[in-house]
Amino acid sequence: MELSHIEHLGIAVKSLETAIPYYEEILGLKCYAIEEVKDQKVKTAFFKIGQTKIELLESTDPEGTISKFIEKKGEGIHHIAFSVKDGVQNALCELEGKGIKLIDKAPRKGAEGLDIAFLHPKSTIGVLTELCENPNEK
Ligand code: ZN
Repeated sequence: MELSHIEHLGIAVKSLETAIPYYEEILGLKCYAIEEVKDQKVKTAFFKIGQTKIELLESTDPEGTISKFIEKKGEGIHHIAFSVKDGVQNALCELEGKGIKLIDKAPRKGAEGLDIAFLHPKSTIGVLTELCENPNEK
């Protein structure tokens, strides 16, 4: 498995409407996309800084994982996403072979059409970790 860069940081927020102005007006970044990912019960807002993105996550469901996360830990960094070369599926197989607990045994579609999969934070020293690959950049 080879990681190429940090694709994005996922940040849990209570409200995109409140969070976006901070990133735009204070940090001077530009929100270039807002997308709902129904599957994950979130609405996302994206900013780009270098080749890394910031993905703000607002829950669309009180039972969703982002709601639960904010309830437990408050707003803040939710996950780190690494871009992998040679396929998310290959990386998952390799990691599972090394005893890493997987949340997703196979890649699924995330925001921006990326192939994504999550590793379990119990196996990643407390950091919810996402692997992703842009199928259009293969
Ligand atoms: Zn993510």
